[in-house]
Amino acid sequence: MSTRTPRILVLGTGGTIAGAGSGGTGAGYRPGGLSLEVLVGHLAALGLSADLVPQEIARIGSQDIGFAEWQALHVASMGAMDDPSVDAVIITHGTDTAEETGFLLDLTLPTTKPVILVGAMRPADAVGADGMRNFANAVKVAGDPAAAGRGVMLVMGDAVLAVRDARKSATSAIDAFRTFPRGPLARVTPSSLDWFGPAHRVGEAARYPFPAELPRVAILTAGAGMDAKPVEALLGIGARGIVLAGMGQGNAPRVVLEALAACAASGVPVVRASRVDEGLVDRNVEVEDDALGLVAARALGPAKARVLLIVLVANGVTDAGRVQAAFDG
Ligand code: ASP
Repeated sequence: MSTRTPRILVLGTGGTIAGAGSGGTGAGYRPGGLSLEVLVGHLAALGLSADLVPQEIARIGSQDIGFAEWQALHVASMGAMDDPSVDAVIITHGTDTAEETGFLLDLTLPTTKPVILVGAMRPADAVGADGMRNFANAVKVAGDPAAAGRGVMLVMGDAVLAVRDARKSATSAIDAFRTFPRGPLARVTPSSLDWFGPAHRVGEAARYPFPAELPRVAILTAGAGMDAKPVEALLGIGARGIVLAGMGQGNAPRVVLEALAACAASGVPVVRASRVDEGLVDRNVEVEDDALGLVAARALGPAKARVLLIVLVANGVTDAGRVQAAFDG
C-alpha cells in the first residue's frame, strides 16, 4: 500500500449499524433502515483521510443473509483484490451472523488486502450508538499496511478480531464478541492502532473455492434426555452434513451418538462442536471418534463449524479423515 489516501471499497449489507426507527431508545428498530450512502455520508463528515467507495449489496438484518448475499460479497471482494486502485474492503454487517459471513470469506478469499467486517450493537439513531465509532475504527485498520495478511477481521468495541476466532457472546452489550483461542489482534480507536503481533497468514491463496451451491448442513443442539429422532428427521430432509452443538466437549446421549455414527457411515459427515461458549473439542476424549467415524470441531463453535462443513461438502470433501484435517488446519 502506498502513502496516498487509502481507497476503500465499502460493501453494505444492513444490520444494526444501519438500523433506524428506534426513537432514540434502541427499541423496535429496523436493521438496514439507513442506506449505505447515508452511513458513508455520516462517516465522511468526520473528515477521516480515506476515499470511501460505497456499494450496497443488501439492506437487511443479518439473520436473513444467505447464499445470494454471500456470493455478491465474494464477487465484489474478488474485484477489489484484483483492482490495484483499491487498498482494502470494509463490509458493514449485522452482528448476528457476522462470524459466519466473515469466516466464509476468510476460507474462500485470497486476502492479499485487508477485508474487515464492522457492525454495531445499537441502531444508528439510538442514544450512545456505537456504529460510527466502529466504522471509523474499521477505516483506521483498513488504511494500515500492517493489516494485510491477517485473514478477514471484525472490528467491534475498539478491538480488531480475527473472524476465525470471533464469537458473539452477548445479545445486547456493546462488547458483544469474545475470541478463542487467540485474543484480539489489535486495539483500535479512530486515532490509534496497536497490533499485538505480526500477521500470521502464509501465502495469498484462498484455502477453498467459493461454493457453487449451499448444501444443507444442519446444527443439532444436544439436550439431556433427547432421543435419536431429531437425527433421523435431519436425514429425512436430506441433510448432507451435521454439526452437533454438543454438551461440554461435544457430547450427546449415547443413542444420539450412535445415530450420528450411522449418519457418518452412510456418507453424511458429522462434526462435534460444543454448545458451551468457549473451549476446544478434541478427538477421542470422552467420545470415541475413531470408532464412531466422527470429527472433532477443535476451536470452532457450531456456527463456524457449519460454515466450514458447508464449504467442504460443496467441494466434495466428506471423508471423516479429510474433514478432520480441515478442522485441524
Ligand atoms: N439482528 C441484527 C443483525 O444481525 C443485529 C445486529 O446487527 O447487531 O442484523
